[in-house]
Amino acid sequence: MKTYKIALIKGDGIGPEIIDEAVKVLDAVASCCDIEFSYEEALMGGCAYDITGDPLPQETINISLNSDAVLFGAIGGQKWDNLPREKRPESGLLRFRKELGVYANLRPATVFDELINASSLKPEVIKGVDLMVVRELIGGIYFGEPRGRDENRGWNTMVYTRDEIVRIAHQAFKIAMTRSKRVCSIDKANVLDVSQLWRDVVTEVGREYPEVELTHMYVDNAAMQLIRDPRQFDVMLTGNIFGDILSDEASMLSGSIGLLPSASIGAKIGVYEPIHGSAPDIAGQGIANPIATILSASMMLRYALGENIAADKIESAVKRALKEGYRTKDLAQYDAKEVCSTSEMGSIIANYAAK
Ligand code: NAD
Repeated sequence: MKTYKIALIKGDGIGPEIIDEAVKVLDAVASCCDIEFSYEEALMGGCAYDITGDPLPQETINISLNSDAVLFGAIGGQKWDNLPREKRPESGLLRFRKELGVYANLRPATVFDELINASSLKPEVIKGVDLMVVRELIGGIYFGEPRGRDENRGWNTMVYTRDEIVRIAHQAFKIAMTRSKRVCSIDKANVLDVSQLWRDVVTEVGREYPEVELTHMYVDNAAMQLIRDPRQFDVMLTGNIFGDILSDEASMLSGSIGLLPSASIGAKIGVYEPIHGSAPDIAGQGIANPIATILSASMMLRYALGENIAADKIESAVKRALKEGYRTKDLAQYDAKEVCSTSEMGSIIANYAAK
């Protein structure tokens, strides 16, 4: 039997509630896939600041680096919003990704047939959407130097090196090889020099994947096409800021932010987390949707541990729970047979995943 060491970072707000459900489902699937998990908890975000004075204690980095993968809930909340920038929970998270070197953020956006009415777009536009945004995560304008502001000017620098583009492009092409073999690279090459380099380098890397069809699209057009005809996309490859915006837009295709997982990979240890935040407005009420976190655990099984059968079992269990009409409160108005709590939803999915 294989044992995997998982670092659990529950974080703030609904983080602990949703991670507990993902662990329940992981343990259920382990029992029937001849695998085992050992968990070690680590602090990050506001809860870490309250206890240690630092939103990202060194011990958390050590525990994470000493694991096979990190399963992460969410951090942040009003209580910590007025701290100096470097003490804020969000700064801890940015630093964490940089420390681990996870440069590729994968965000699938899938529309479940059962929830087709939950999207703000028409069913005929979104039926069957299944795309993956591959976003560069630790470079570009969010990290470029020089940056700063004075009384009258603010400035940031959008910079990418050839190496940074090469490695993220390889990730996108490799993922496309496991899907329908199409990559659309998003840039602003008609205006930005950095995007011209991006386009040239992605094209060069693309020659190493002759089976994958590569197209390029300007980011403004991509934002429009995602709403007009999202099914045209398979893998969308893009830089940090464009990916930040487009992946949030793509997430809305599916109807609830509580459904969407993500993976941050590229280094030895990957981080698997829902795309939503700590939802302080509903924390502690037992109504958060745990599905995004449960599907993040499934991505962890697939991308970090190579346990594809276990990952498939979790995905099928989620589909079955939705198909049978189980809904958490955020989706209660969409064909619910039974509205369940966070913990009930976790148990239903765990039960199906164990079969
Ligand atoms: P949010 O994603 O936490 O919440 C937005 C809305 O979606 C809220 O109404 C919330 O109740 C709802 N929601 C989110 N997740 C849900 C779930 N699983 N089930 C049901 N409903 C859900 O975004 P926000 O309100 O802008 O931010 C709250 C805090 O989270 C802030 O401190 C922010 O900085 C932080 N944040 C953290 C992360 C992260 O940890 N990766 C990401 C985004 C925001």
